[in-house]
This record gives sequence, C-alpha cells and structure tokens, in this order.
Amino acid sequence: MVECIFCKIVQGEIPAAKVYEDDEVLAFLDINPILAGHTLVIPKVHCETLADAAPSVLEACMRAVKKVGCAVMDAMAAEGLNVLQNNFEVAGQEIDHLHFHLIPRFRNDGFRVPWPAKPYPDGELERVQEKIRGAL
Ligand code: AMP
Ligand code: ZN
Repeated sequence: MVECIFCKIVQGEIPAAKVYEDDEVLAFLDINPILAGHTLVIPKVHCETLADAAPSVLEACMRAVKKVGCAVMDAMAAEGLNVLQNNFEVAGQEIDHLHFHLIPRFRNDGFRVPWPAKPYPDGELERVQEKIRGAL
C-alpha cells in the first residue's frame, strides 16, 4: 500500500514517535492528540477496518492495546483510558489503515464524545436483535 501513510510509518519512510513495536504491531503518538499521551496502535500489515483484518492480526493488536494502554495510563498518571476505533468514513475514519486510539483520561479533562442514547420504541429491540443474529 504505497499511498498509505501508516504503511509508510511502518516502513520507516516517514517519521513517527514510536513507543512500542513487535513483529506484528506498531504503536506511536498521535500527531494531533486529544490529550497528551494519545497513542495509536496499528498492525504492520495493511488492512483497512475490522472487516478485512485477519483474526490473528486483531489478536496481536489487542495484546498491544492492553500492554501499551496500561503503559500510557502509568506514564501519564491517567485515571482512565478510552480505546476508540473508527471503521469507514461515516464513522470518522480518516486514515484507511486499521488503528486503535488509546486516549488517557483525567477528571475534568474537557473531552466529551456526544452520546445521544435513547431507548428503543416498543418491539424494535427484538427486531434489531433478530436482524443481527440473522447476519452472523
Ligand atoms: P481516524 O480519524 O480514526 O482515522 O484517526 C486518524 C488519526 O491519525 C488522527 O487522530 C490523526 O491525528 C492521526 N494521524 C494522522 N497522520 C499521522 C501521523 N503522520 N503520525 C501520527 N498520527 C497521525
Ligand atoms: Zn497501510
């Protein structure tokens, strides 16, 4: 994936502030952080979203999310951590290479994701449940 900016980081063609690396995964600081310590975990192999990522790739990513996420919390003396992962443009994905955001959180840190939750209308929960079960 010559045009992929995260593949270029993996290949060392453009710089990044790397914090962790193993055979399958790379973690580096987000260049435009929500809060200091905001880190991205990516697989070294190019895949775009959860949908096309091999299970073994996701396993490696999750191991790194735990390891690096805990280190980010320790290093930044954070009280919490958000793990965020956007799939496809409509969901906010800007870089088409699978990545997990690790965002250290602090009381009153000013970061709020609008979360307009509301209950289902009558009968709709069961309809949605059946649709998803049918798609598996
Ligand atoms: P997303 O909206 O989930 O695709 O997030 C992409 C993230 O990649 C954003 O938070 C960007 O700030 C970050 N980003 C883009 N280019 C770079 C780069 N060269 N080095 C580090 N982070 C980057
Ligand atoms: Zn890529």
